[in-house]
Order: sequence, then C-alpha cells, then structure tokens
Amino acid sequence: MSLWREAVLGVTRQPRVQQFVVEHALVRPLRDRFVAGETLEQALSVAHALAAAGFRLSLDHLGEEVDSPEAAERAVDDYLAVVEAIARERLPSGISIKLTQLGLAQDPAACQARLERLLATAQRAGVFVRVDMEGSVYTQATLDLVRAVWPRYRNVGVVLQAYLHRTARDLRAVLAEGISVRLCKGAYAEPPTIAYASKAAVDANYARLLRTLLAAEPYAAIATHDEALIARAQALAAQFQRPRDRFEFQMLYGVRRDLQRHLLEQGYRVRIYLPYGAEWYPYLTRRLAERPANLLFLARALWAERNGRGAEAA
Ligand SMILES: Cc1cc2nc3c(=O)[nH]c(=O)nc-3n(C[C@H](O)[C@H](O)[C@H](O)COP(=O)(O)OP(=O)(O)OC[C@H]3O[C@@H](n4cnc5c(N)ncnc54)[C@H](O)[C@@H]3O)c2cc1C
Repeated sequence: MSLWREAVLGVTRQPRVQQFVVEHALVRPLRDRFVAGETLEQALSVAHALAAAGFRLSLDHLGEEVDSPEAAERAVDDYLAVVEAIARERLPSGISIKLTQLGLAQDPAACQARLERLLATAQRAGVFVRVDMEGSVYTQATLDLVRAVWPRYRNVGVVLQAYLHRTARDLRAVLAEGISVRLCKGAYAEPPTIAYASKAAVDANYARLLRTLLAAEPYAAIATHDEALIARAQALAAQFQRPRDRFEFQMLYGVRRDLQRHLLEQGYRVRIYLPYGAEWYPYLTRRLAERPANLLFLARALWAERNGRGAEAA
C-alpha cells in the first residue's frame, strides 16, 4: 500500500507528468470529479447544491507549501473571502486549511499570526476552521500551533492520521485538551519506521482509534469511505450512547457519493470536503495514489489520445 502510494506520488512529482495532467483536456473529467472548480464562485454553486441535498461542507481553497510571506498572506486573504461568502450565503460550511499554505515551513511564528487573523474573523462569522494534517515533517508543528491558539479560538479543530504510530498518543492528548479531531487514514508517503505499512494495519489502528475518539467528549469527525470502519463507528456511537449531533461522517467530494447519500438517509450528519482552486494538482495526485483505478484512467487517456478517442473517468 505505502509502496504503491510512494511510487505514484514519486511519478506524479515529475515535471513532465505534472505538465501533462495540468494541461491535458482529456484529464479534465478526472479533475472535475474531485475538484469543485477553479474559482470560489464555481465552488459556491456546487456547495449550494450539496447543501440543498442535506450535506454539510468544508471548503478547501487548494494550495500548499507556499514559498514566500506574500503568498502566505494572499492565502489568508483568499480564505477570509471564503469565510465571508459562507456567512453571506448562509452555507452550512466550515473551511479546511493547510498550515504550509500559511507559511509553516518558513516561519512558524508568522504562520501562527496568520492563523489567528483567520480564526478571529471566522469566529465572528461562526465558521469552523479545520486544520488539515500534512506530511509527517509537519505533524508536531501543526499540533503545537493548534494547541497554542486553542485557548482563544474554540472554532478550531485538527486532523490526525491513523497510519502514524504516534497517533494513539496524540489523539489521547488532543482530546484531553478538548480539541475536536477529524480522524483519517493518512494520504502521504511515510516511511515504515513511523507509519503502518499495510492497509490491514492502518485499518486496524483506525478501528482502535475510533474507540478513543467516540468515547471522548469533543465533537468527533470520522473521515473515511471505508464501509467496515463506518459500521464500526456506528456501533461504537450506539454503545457509548453518543447523540448523532455530537459526531459526523466526512467524505471527499466525488468519492462514494452513494455512501454519502445513504448515511444522510439513515439520519447521520455527513460533511463533504469540498476542494477548489487553480492549485489542484497535488490534491489530485493524492486521490490518484489512493486508488489504482484512478491512475488507470490517466493511462487510458494517454492510450485513447494515441488512438484518437476520449476516455471516461474511473
Ligand atoms: C473529509 C476528509 C478529510 C481528509 N483530510 C485529510 C488530511 O487532513 N490529511 C491526510 O493525510 N488525509 C486526509 N484525508 C485523506 C485520507 O487520509 C485518505 O487518504 C482517504 O480518505 C482514503 O482513505 P479511506 O479512509 O477512504 O479508505 P480506503 O481504504 O483508502 O478507501 C475505502 C474505499 O473508498 C473509496 N475510495 C477511497 N479513496 C478513493 C479515491 N481517491 N477515489 C475513488 N474511490 C476512493 C474506494 O471505494 C475504497 O475502496 C481526508 C479524507 C477525508 C474523507
């Protein structure tokens, strides 16, 4: 599993592959499946349709690993516009952000100041800010920053990844402080020294972590499309008599839409992670690495091009 992910993420980092994917019209259906457009207006239109169907949302303005303070400031301004639009249009939506988008890699103190600027406005607007978890070089810094702002901003929550060995400890610590956690499996290529390597081991750890998450007080976000883990979360929530307004399932835009609807129909809260923006390439490569069929689509697009035909998205 991790070898596959490493291989795919390695290949997609090649500039020629990136150029092909970004520029090629045949790849558009694949991008459009996972990304709700390149502009805020396009994303808002998708958000309204999903909200009308009963879903909650978390808008993600795509971008990560900025290389200048100016780019980090622009990212904050862009997010402030998203917060303002959510409030103005009364959307049942929070936002998801990446701290490397706010300059975490260059200057953690400046990143914290930018995060606080965003959190203050979001707090006034009643908008929740979920801090995504990125590659393991940022795990500690991300947790430190969220903990640092938490006493002043109760509208912030964090993400933990079940594939990391350290997560059991982090989860207990973060929950003990009262911080809301989104639990996911993890989408980056991590070495076996720090991460579970097989899908079975990651799934087993996720199942263990679910018990800790759902037994604790803070609002819980269960981010997975894995039906076995969703069933386990439902059973644990029932066992702990956890009210349905104290947890939610979260899924990615374009992934398992049938399951998203099914959970909603069963009366569970379902939040769709809704990414948009011009910088969609790294996000798309992680979605490709999760499922061989998605990558097969790319191969078919290339093949179809050589033979003068189109291809359908996986
Ligand atoms: C709301 C949300 C937020 C997330 N935030 C983060 C984050 O902050 N940091 C992070 O590292 N990761 C994040 N992830 C990604 C996560 O870590 C996984 O990589 C991703 O969710 C796939 O794992 P899974 O739990 O769905 O299980 P899997 O076992 O990978 O998938 C279960 C089933 O879901 C379907 N499926 C899953 N992925 C795809 C796909 N790409 N295309 C088509 N079908 C698919 C397939 O039917 C598959 O059999 C997030 C995921 C979600 C849902």
